[in-house]
Amino acid sequence: MSRNFINTLVFLLFLIGNYNFLFSQNTVTKQSPIVPNPSVYIATGEDFNLDNELLINTTNLPLEIQNYLTIEFRKLYGISLRYTTSKGQLNFKTFRNVPKDSYSINVADDITITYSSEQSCFYAVNSFLQLVKQNQDSFVIPKCFVDDAPKFEWRGMHLDVSRHFFSVDEVKRYIDLMAFYKFNKFHWHLTDDQGWRIEIKQFPKLTEIGAWRDSTVIGHANSKPNQYSKGKYGGFYTQAQIKDIVKYATDRYISVIPEIEMPGHARAALAAYPEYSCTGLKHGVEGLWGVFDDIYCSKMETIDFNKKILDEVLSLFPSEYIHIGGDEAPKTRWKECENCQKVMKENGLKDEHALQSYFIKQIDVYLTSKGRKLIGWDEILEGGLSPNATVMSWQGESGGLEAAKQKHAVVMSPSSHCYFDHYQASSSTEPLAIGGFLTLEKVYSFDPIPKELNIQDRVYILGGQANVWTEYIPNIKQLEYMAFPRMLAMSQALWTTQKPTYVDFEKELVVHQFKLLDRLKVNYSKAIMYPKIDYLRTKNGIGIVVHSIVADEKFELEKVEKPSFNNHTVTIHNQITQKDTLYFDRTRKSNFTKISTITVKAETLKKALRFEINSNSTIGLPVNLITKPNPKFNNRENLALFDGVRGSRPWKGDEWLGFDVDTIQFELDLLKSSKIKKMNIGFLMAKSSWIYLPQHVEISVSKDNANWTALPKADATEYFTQKVNKKARYIKVQIIADHKIPEGQPGEGFHPWTFIDEVEVIK
Ligand SMILES: [Zn+2]
Repeated sequence: MSRNFINTLVFLLFLIGNYNFLFSQNTVTKQSPIVPNPSVYIATGEDFNLDNELLINTTNLPLEIQNYLTIEFRKLYGISLRYTTSKGQLNFKTFRNVPKDSYSINVADDITITYSSEQSCFYAVNSFLQLVKQNQDSFVIPKCFVDDAPKFEWRGMHLDVSRHFFSVDEVKRYIDLMAFYKFNKFHWHLTDDQGWRIEIKQFPKLTEIGAWRDSTVIGHANSKPNQYSKGKYGGFYTQAQIKDIVKYATDRYISVIPEIEMPGHARAALAAYPEYSCTGLKHGVEGLWGVFDDIYCSKMETIDFNKKILDEVLSLFPSEYIHIGGDEAPKTRWKECENCQKVMKENGLKDEHALQSYFIKQIDVYLTSKGRKLIGWDEILEGGLSPNATVMSWQGESGGLEAAKQKHAVVMSPSSHCYFDHYQASSSTEPLAIGGFLTLEKVYSFDPIPKELNIQDRVYILGGQANVWTEYIPNIKQLEYMAFPRMLAMSQALWTTQKPTYVDFEKELVVHQFKLLDRLKVNYSKAIMYPKIDYLRTKNGIGIVVHSIVADEKFELEKVEKPSFNNHTVTIHNQITQKDTLYFDRTRKSNFTKISTITVKAETLKKALRFEINSNSTIGLPVNLITKPNPKFNNRENLALFDGVRGSRPWKGDEWLGFDVDTIQFELDLLKSSKIKKMNIGFLMAKSSWIYLPQHVEISVSKDNANWTALPKADATEYFTQKVNKKARYIKVQIIADHKIPEGQPGEGFHPWTFIDEVEVIK
């Protein structure tokens, strides 16, 4: 039955039923305070007062949901509930012959929740919990009518408990927060190189050895040389604890999908049972983050080992889907392994990608025989997709598109919109993260249906999921910080049929949802309220304007060195408004090669934002970008390379220009001829994001734009610098990158990204 039909039905009920009050008064329609937003929300503008104890008619209210409502209501608002079996202030009705997860809430002289299934009753109760707001000393609910049903059947959140371990109570809290925002799939990443977290009775060493590592890398894995904290780190869940968590989730209408990684990301398992690797050599549980060459050998013994593990997994998880990973499995060992080569020969497999497909197929057949469905990351497409497999697409949309075209079910979780381990703000005060940049607005714009997908293949897209990898998330506070409020934007993308504009969503967040998160004591990010900085090109340099979504926000400049401020020198503790501009002038000798550290403190947030301007003699210089950056990484296109802001490491996205072509060219005009000492170009190396150094840089200089002198071709480095020692006005730069990421490296076979920032001409 279509949503349109349901809406029409509801509308008819409206006209004939007890919804008439809406029309008898001044009807006000506004955005719903409920997130994810329901399909229909109509409010009268009046409030329904909640008594100190709300009287609930428990007829038609399932006991588990009654318990949930009682606990959550008290937790959120400190109000106890009273129960009756006759008419209450809150009453429940069932409503058959409508889509299985639909419900409605009518708040008039009393409150009626109408639902089609237990699951939708649970959704209704969560919406009801979110409608409550505080008016002075009392609690009220807006008089309103809500009609709702989900857009997608797969609304997932993932949690990696291998890189960092989370206790049973912490996992339950995560499940509670998922339930509150109507997620229904919990993808539990239980095994990886850095720790095996699930008790398997047949193979006790998996947790005795595999659950513990002796050291953990400190800081970012890209900062070389790596340093390690010593000390045993780890943990695991007993089978009893797993059953407890699965029941806890089931009571909240969330299905738990376990992920048991194979054939890659298996270092913890191989530390316990090295006989299932290709070399048989013993390695410890890994303490560094990344992709490792030692993976499961593809011999029959390993496949049997994994089947036995899965037997126990299946007994613990009733989920229809079982995730087997399948991602990031370098073929280095397989190429040199006698056993692997033998399997290839015996089965007529043309290469190691076909061998990966063969491995996954054995597992697929096994899971299918047990009545379950295999799901894996999009690398399981390599060498041919196994017949019953469902693909979870993380490498952009292409894997998902391909699988849907082949009539396989797909869950979309492209890293561009769904990776909550990426930075959400560019402030230098953000806690360390893996890199990447995923704002709330970008998550909000996520649509699991790729635009290029044919209408008839859209049915294969089950929905979407956000992934939380925990290399840089050591505890629950940080987990909440990375997940919230982005989880709310994701719930909108997966549940809501007609999303409001992002601006309206953001307002509702600050007005209502942040208060709910405060009540739930969630450590959420307030990044959307941070001061934001606009950079403009001026005649002699750049100008900076600070602004915020908080109206009339005032900013205090806590520390500034040397720029001019509305043409006056700034002193410490100047207050600025959203209308003021700070100027950086390249013609002022005193500014040359001076790094200005500016700390802006927003009054409302009591939070300081620190940024550095590298005010030099080329700041704001005109540049002709002959090669255009990819639109995904093209913030402040023409200014980015000369805005005085050096790209941050690990990258937070908005300072860098990103290119995915072999040759990158740009030209500069220094406006007059002068002696140039050297030239600096910043390049980024972030393999896990498929960002690599280019091969080399070619620079030419000229006084007259006619006669050019080429400098020697030089290898690219992260902090590239080349001596010039020539008089010139015009400069041409050509950067040559690789065509393909080499085998065995993250993103192999794809075009590497070249990230550039900042360019400095030192006179
Ligand atoms: Zn092997």
